[in-house]
Amino acid sequence: MSNQALIIIDVQNDFCPGGALAVAGGDEIVAPINELQDWFPIRILTQDWHPADHQSFADNHEGAAPFSMIEASYGPQVLWPRHCVQGTNGAAFHSDLRVDADLIIRKGFRPEIDSYSAFFENDHETPTGLAGYLRERGVDSLVMVGLATDFCVRFSVVDAAKLGFDVTLVEDCCRAIDLDGSLAAAIEEMDGAGVRRVTMAAL
Ligand SMILES: [Zn+2]
Repeated sequence: MSNQALIIIDVQNDFCPGGALAVAGGDEIVAPINELQDWFPIRILTQDWHPADHQSFADNHEGAAPFSMIEASYGPQVLWPRHCVQGTNGAAFHSDLRVDADLIIRKGFRPEIDSYSAFFENDHETPTGLAGYLRERGVDSLVMVGLATDFCVRFSVVDAAKLGFDVTLVEDCCRAIDLDGSLAAAIEEMDGAGVRRVTMAAL
C-alpha cells in the first residue's frame, strides 16, 4: 500500500462544535480518523491557516453578513465568520486528533485569496505543492476524509481526481456544512469527477 496516502482535511477546532465555523458533528470523525491512520504508511494533514486580514472573513468587509457572497478577482467567494486565524486555538488541530503525519500542508495564508482545496488556491491555478510532493513519493492513490464535505473536502477530492490520482472518499469520516444545497452539489461534482465514495467499513 506504499503508493497510497491518507489525506486528512482541516480537522481543526474552529470547524468542530464550539468553534467559530462549527460543522455539526465535526468532532465525531476524530476517533474513526485516528483508527484509519493506523492503516496508512503515508498520512498528510491540511490546516486552514489565515492571516487576521484575510478577505474571506465577513468582518473584514464593512456591513457584510457572514455566509453572504462577494465577487473576488478569481470568482464568487463565500464570506465566512472569522476562523482558523494563524496561531490561535481555533486554528489548532482537534486535541484528540493524532498528529504525527508525514506532512502538514497549510492553506489560505495569502490575505487576498482563499484556498479550499489542498491542491490549488481558489483561483484553481496557484498550486500548494501537494501534488508534487505526492508524485515524488510515488503516491498515485488517495483516501480522503475531513471537514467540510461540501467545501474543503469537495474541492480537494475533485482537484485530486482531475490531477489523475485515484481518489476514495470515506463519507462517514467527513461532515458537511450544507449551505444552500452545497452538499448535494458537492456529491454530484465528486461523482462526476470519478471519486469513489465509500464507508469506513467498506474500505
Ligand atoms: Zn478558511
